[in-house]
Amino acid sequence: MKILIADDSSVSRDLLGTMVRKWGYDVVSVSDGTHAWEVLSGPDAPRLAILDWMMPGLTGPEVCEKVRDKGGESYTYILLLTGRTQKEDVIEGMDAGADDYVVKPFDQQELRVRLRAGRRIVELQDELLTAREKFRQQATHDALTGLKNRAYIRQILAERMDAARSSSIPVGVIMLDLDRFKLVNDTYGHAVGDAVLIAAAQRIQSVLSDSDVVGRDGGEEFLLVSSRPSLDLAALAETVRQAIAAEPVVVGELTLPVTASLGYARLCPRADADILLRAADEALYRAKHNGRNRIEPGQVEGC
Ligand code: GH3
Ligand code: MG
Ligand code: MG
Repeated sequence: MKILIADDSSVSRDLLGTMVRKWGYDVVSVSDGTHAWEVLSGPDAPRLAILDWMMPGLTGPEVCEKVRDKGGESYTYILLLTGRTQKEDVIEGMDAGADDYVVKPFDQQELRVRLRAGRRIVELQDELLTAREKFRQQATHDALTGLKNRAYIRQILAERMDAARSSSIPVGVIMLDLDRFKLVNDTYGHAVGDAVLIAAAQRIQSVLSDSDVVGRDGGEEFLLVSSRPSLDLAALAETVRQAIAAEPVVVGELTLPVTASLGYARLCPRADADILLRAADEALYRAKHNGRNRIEPGQVEGC
């Protein structure tokens, strides 16, 4: 783990550096508070820091305050190094945001175990952040295809619609449903069906631009949300349809033709999300009825 050592005395800095390197840390050292702050607020900053109290530029407690004010997701564990032993000094240092302090001249073993405690806190915090990110991913994404799930894609639609009302950037939705997909499951089994779903998801994603979002809305149904200044939903729907149907999906020994039907609808000032989705759904139904592997425009009520 990377550690910052900030001390204006080169003797003390070198001594500390040699010591902590021996304990397995990667050392970054600076000789004043201003540089300490630069390093701690910069990219890929060390998460552990030993700061001398008195330094030119910023003092150790001042650096602590700046680090805490900055906030951010990843925690920096700060240990103040001080010649001061008065209780008030210690309180001042901890109040500034330090996690711990060591009084000079310090005992090597004491510093080693205190650093180890700090390292444990940083690692625990990382684990928490990773776990939180994993839960967030699970709550918002579909496990099979990795696409956004129904709740999340619908939330994105609501947000895009809100933004559209103030920015006048058009928004539209496309509903897509794989054709005769039950037949794939019934003929080749669920695992092959899953492989086809994954392939379809990848094909849809491969033709989308940054301003388009797609989610798995249910079984073999996908919802696309697009908002761009020159929105051409029919062209987008046709591109997606072709991307899915262009080549058969190969699953092991099997070569499976796959097609989809799509319905699309564009937002108008009077439509809400339900009306828009209903129009796209109705258009999708028509695409099925009219022979599948095709796109149909939706008529939005009141527009
Ligand atoms: P249509 O062209 O009218 O859409 O016909 P279809 O067979 O695609 O439609 P239907 O709604 O009858 O069947 C959808 C099938 O999708 C039924 C269900 O077993 C399957 N399905 C839903 N979710 C999954 C999944 O996660 N994995 C697999 N393998 N199949 C799924
Ligand atoms: Mg279907
Ligand atoms: Mg369906």
